[in-house]
Amino acid sequence: MVTAEIVYPLAFPKNTSYKCEICDKPANRVCKKCHCTYYCSEEHQTTDWNGIHEKICKSLEDLRKKQVFLLSEEERREKDRETRERKINLMEMTRMIGQRHLFQERYEQAIPAALSSLKLAVDVYGPKSVDLIPSYLILAEASLGLKHLGQCWEYLSQAQYTVLQNPNPPLYITSKLYRNLAQLNIARKDYEEALRNLANDVYDASTYYGTEHHKVAGGYFLLGKVFKLLNKLEVTDSLYKQVSDMWYTHLRKLLESRVVWTDMDQILGKKEEEEVPSSAKLDLSTEAEAHITLQTLLSYRQETSIKQPDQLELNKINHAISILHFLSRDYTKVTETMSRITDNQLTEIDEDQALMIKFLNQLGQMRALMKKQQSSL
Ligand SMILES: [Zn+2]
Ligand SMILES: [Zn+2]
Repeated sequence: MVTAEIVYPLAFPKNTSYKCEICDKPANRVCKKCHCTYYCSEEHQTTDWNGIHEKICKSLEDLRKKQVFLLSEEERREKDRETRERKINLMEMTRMIGQRHLFQERYEQAIPAALSSLKLAVDVYGPKSVDLIPSYLILAEASLGLKHLGQCWEYLSQAQYTVLQNPNPPLYITSKLYRNLAQLNIARKDYEEALRNLANDVYDASTYYGTEHHKVAGGYFLLGKVFKLLNKLEVTDSLYKQVSDMWYTHLRKLLESRVVWTDMDQILGKKEEEEVPSSAKLDLSTEAEAHITLQTLLSYRQETSIKQPDQLELNKINHAISILHFLSRDYTKVTETMSRITDNQLTEIDEDQALMIKFLNQLGQMRALMKKQQSSL
């Protein structure tokens, strides 16, 4: 377990190799499997093992293996290219694992994963590259989750510094950085600064993705949250409506592209998961964000509309949630959420529901048939 006293390092390329992987203090033990990862204590070794090392120990060992004698310059170049590619893959994998830990609020485990990805990124891209920033942001978010605000600020400063060193930082990265800064400022109760961060976030995200894109919704959502904290509920109200509209539109579009039809296809042996175009997929990070956002919007509407229920808005949110369950393949929750929709005035909701129910019925029949077939064998 990570304790509150620990100061996590900002990963710079190391001059000496005998520093703890987790805290950068002098190390006195080494992983017995890969022989290239060092720790100051058993505690930090366990932290690293649980967060990430178990999954990358073997790969690190392979990467470290001495190169066999190569005949030509060309072969050496080819080998270097291959090693670099493996490091990049490993970096992406560790980053994804860190991100997943974050979504599941396992902040202690997110940190070692993000630190590993950061070290690999420094190794591949150098210490000044914007490619380091996604790792800093995971570290910042995990620190914030652990309520280590000072540590969070250090990581965000590092990310800001890296942005400033690059003439044209990509806007999807700067918007994410502003969003993280806003989250820190909300935790510090500096709402004015948070509003400034969020204005920048929305501006950069809109420029990069387009104004109606669901990637912009996160900025509006936090703006709504800040105005709620400032007790300006009218502003929150309209911002939250904008957010629910964005998700509603995005999820309906995903439903239309019939991504999950592959469930049926898989049973019929027609299609593999990989064949679904990536644009039509609901990725892990979007899925997690959608769940949290829509649940918050729902609670807000339920709280504020006790006297005067905004049924249209409630229906929209519930419909978006039912599609989300459908896309997450959590089929039992789909019908449950659908039943919460009353006085429906939107024909598109009826159409979507008919589509989902038809699919669920077919899937049910198909499964029953398969069961029958298996038991008769
Ligand atoms: Zn340590
Ligand atoms: Zn190891």
